[in-house]
Amino acid sequence: MHVSVDRDRCTGHAQCNAVAPDVYDLDDDGYCVIPNNDVSAGLENQAENGAAACPEQAITVVP
Ligand code: SF4
Repeated sequence: MHVSVDRDRCTGHAQCNAVAPDVYDLDDDGYCVIPNNDVSAGLENQAENGAAACPEQAITVVP
């Protein structure tokens, strides 16, 4: 699974990080940063839930 964030759409709600802190990090301004775009098997559910929680649909998940 691969995840990416469109930084132009991200508005810093931090919902991704609240739901999936092991996948989505935040920069100093509260915008999403993804330290590892290739999600390990054990974190796939978390990655999907975090993406679904984003109000801006800024996160793309490719299975
Ligand atoms: S929930 Fe969406 S808009 Fe908010 S920080 Fe995460 S990616 Fe950005």
